[in-house]
Amino acid sequence: MKHVELNLPVGVRESLCGFARSRYPHEACGLLIGESTDSLVEVMRAVETRNLLAGEAGDRFEVDPGEHVAAQRVARDEGLDVVGVWHSHPDHPARPSARDLAGAWEGWSYLIVAVDADGVGELRSWRLEGGHFVEQELRDGDARGRGNGATAQAKAVTLA
Ligand SMILES: [Zn+2]
Repeated sequence: MKHVELNLPVGVRESLCGFARSRYPHEACGLLIGESTDSLVEVMRAVETRNLLAGEAGDRFEVDPGEHVAAQRVARDEGLDVVGVWHSHPDHPARPSARDLAGAWEGWSYLIVAVDADGVGELRSWRLEGGHFVEQELRDGDARGRGNGATAQAKAVTLA
């Protein structure tokens, strides 16, 4: 199966870190807006949505369906689409939980932001393939992945 990379520009990563920090110790969630092809998901921006399950114990999030529809409409007006969902893992590593797996859809990217009292840790992204989560390689090119040797920097991104 072909590996699908995820391009996450620095500005988008910074907004995700800000959302995760501001909701801590609660779990933040939202949507990833961009474009995707067979080999690359291009995130253009991240939006935060209400977490309907915020404050419940464990790894619980549910994107508000009304906000999902609204975000999708705006994205389509721009020729973009919802390409995935992101959520934070307060005081837990950026690895999907059994609950994340149970709620996941094929074809979307699931980006997880680890956050604790000291700030944001790793960002990692996963896709469901054949019933399992497979980690996506992260790139940090500008919009549409142009230039700056993004692939070579992929490993460093997760350490930010
Ligand atoms: Zn989770």
